[in-house]
Amino acid sequence: MSATSNVRVRFAPSPTGALHIGGVRTALFNWLFARHHGGTFILRIEDTDQTRSTDESIRIILDGMKWIGLDWDEGPFRQTERMQIYREHVDQLLKAGKAYRCYCTPEELDARRKEAMAAGKPPKYDRKCRSLTAPVPGRTAAVRFLSSDEGQTIVRDIIRGAVTFENQQLDDLIIQRSDGLPTYNFAVVVDDVTMKISHVIRGDDHLNNTPRQIQLYQAFGYEPPQFAHLPMILGSDKTKLSKRHGATAVTEYIDLGYLPEALVNYLSRLGWSSGDQEIFSPQELIEKFSLENVGKAPSVFNPEKLIWLNHHYIQQADPARLATLVLDLLRKDGLVKSEPDTEWFKKLVTILTERSHTLVEMKTGAIPFLADDIAMDEKARTKHLTPDVAPLLSELADRLKAADPFTHDEIEKVFTALVTEKAIKLGKLAQPVRVALTGGTVSPGIYDVIEVMGKDKTIKRIEAAIGMAK
Ligand code: GLU
Repeated sequence: MSATSNVRVRFAPSPTGALHIGGVRTALFNWLFARHHGGTFILRIEDTDQTRSTDESIRIILDGMKWIGLDWDEGPFRQTERMQIYREHVDQLLKAGKAYRCYCTPEELDARRKEAMAAGKPPKYDRKCRSLTAPVPGRTAAVRFLSSDEGQTIVRDIIRGAVTFENQQLDDLIIQRSDGLPTYNFAVVVDDVTMKISHVIRGDDHLNNTPRQIQLYQAFGYEPPQFAHLPMILGSDKTKLSKRHGATAVTEYIDLGYLPEALVNYLSRLGWSSGDQEIFSPQELIEKFSLENVGKAPSVFNPEKLIWLNHHYIQQADPARLATLVLDLLRKDGLVKSEPDTEWFKKLVTILTERSHTLVEMKTGAIPFLADDIAMDEKARTKHLTPDVAPLLSELADRLKAADPFTHDEIEKVFTALVTEKAIKLGKLAQPVRVALTGGTVSPGIYDVIEVMGKDKTIKRIEAAIGMAK
């Protein structure tokens, strides 16, 4: 997609583990903002923390982004491939006298921090190396930013308005560690400048970093981008969303059988709204999305709403697509012995959609139709396959044998005639048949089940059930 505006945004995950729901929400809002404005969406992997970054995690991020449909226009860039650029920028600040070399060892820093705290002072860097005139022999220097002690730095945030920070609170932060690697705040600024980022949209856990980053922009003489800090996502107990609240990684939602459009729809509403509307197609989201409609308040993650949306999107999905997805899940579990007929399988998937909230439920529902033998639920069997239903099932089997064509409507006629003659409620017949055919008491409508299962299998299973009932 070629950009038609100067809007340039980025998603900048650190590849240190799973791709979390919160990260995907950040990515989604950046993507929607870019697409809404005809701008550019950039993917940048922040992997300078080499002890925690892994290639596996990068793969998880890329796969997750692709699965959910957030396509990027530039990147993925990796910070570790940009070391030369950071070094040049460090040199630039050193030359301009806006940064200085610091030779303090971690042990020295720690000791002085403790002293400061004991004396009731803030545990800030004491700026010892600011006044050095020559290197300290035998030590490798880190580089610190020379920050201002006076005045204030104001973050003008699109979502939160103006947030003021006292410069006195900010440290002379390290911009390049003694091992030569840039630190987060510095690399982010260099990247955002060199990638011409117009809007930084990220979680508000980064709000405290923003004044430091603004000072760095000022030191370079660059115009800062616009900032939008997204409110946190909380779990049901109002604490930060974490594993304790259930699935938080995208891969878990894939495995649980969610559709990407359900997750996109759900995440779009975490912090953003457009009136009372709940259901949005991606196209509609792109049209309606604006940062002005993102609220300040944290949102609470609601798994029930997500599953409700997933059910909705399963009903909407193209049966051929669902068939492929469900068949993949069945294959993964080794449940496909011989390839089912495509049209037949599509019909099966169609009858399963109404009751299914996830693809995994659809997979489970499909098993009795594919397997040679069914797993009988013991409770259902004792309750429904009782001696008195044996003659009823026997009669039904005979009539079904004669049904032609073997379709929903013909099958319905057989059932209606039989229950009318016997003066029993439909459930008295349908429920034992359901148990006989699927092994349990929950399934799609019984006529659909019978039609899709086919005459041979239906008769065979009813006959087996008669044997159990007697
Ligand atoms: N790498 C940071 C993170 O994963 C994001 C930094 C940013 O967006 O500025 O939290």
